[in-house]
Amino acid sequence: MQTLVADHPLIAHKLTALRDARTETPVFRSLTDELVTLLAYEATRDVKVERVRVRTPVAEADGVKLARPRPLVIPVLRAGIGMLDGMSRLLPKADVGFVGLARDEETLVASTYATRLPADLTGRDTFVLDPMLATGGTLVTVLEMLASRGAASITAICLLAAPEGIAKVQASFGDDFPIPVKVVSGGLDDRLNERGYIVPGLGDAGDRLFGEI
Ligand code: URA
Repeated sequence: MQTLVADHPLIAHKLTALRDARTETPVFRSLTDELVTLLAYEATRDVKVERVRVRTPVAEADGVKLARPRPLVIPVLRAGIGMLDGMSRLLPKADVGFVGLARDEETLVASTYATRLPADLTGRDTFVLDPMLATGGTLVTVLEMLASRGAASITAICLLAAPEGIAKVQASFGDDFPIPVKVVSGGLDDRLNERGYIVPGLGDAGDRLFGEI
């Protein structure tokens, strides 16, 4: 597994505003959107393309276009929905699947309550959107679903990660794993607290994007 923690002043600037407890939902949403587009640029670096030839007003030119089958973007419900527009801006032709997982606040174990994924992902680059890589339980479950359906590559995009979460994904998808697995994160924080929240983090990403329901 490859981990990439973004190192860019614009990403750090937006992340700092997201962390700020005074940032209200409308601004939080639009900052998330912008941040994901920046992270998506890095996350799609190895997306499969095929060669094409086009005619410019002047001459023939060699170029590329996204290869078939189209990439699949999977926001993890609920908070990952807040990342979908930012991702779709860069990959508007990607298909979108959904996975819903809820974390038991006592045990911190995630259980799946919804899945809408193609049965066969052979040859497809897949991009998982989940803002907080905390214990890693949710992400490992989703990555296993994609790998078992035959995905060609799996890239997770997170706003923030904790070392515990990175270690858990690494333990499940080590260097000998047969397909490329990558985690792209806007930042790497210190640790988890006893409730499984990232410290210093930004709080509950779902609540900050969509309100406490
Ligand atoms: N989920 C969140 O929304 N925030 C955290 O800090 C950890 C998990």
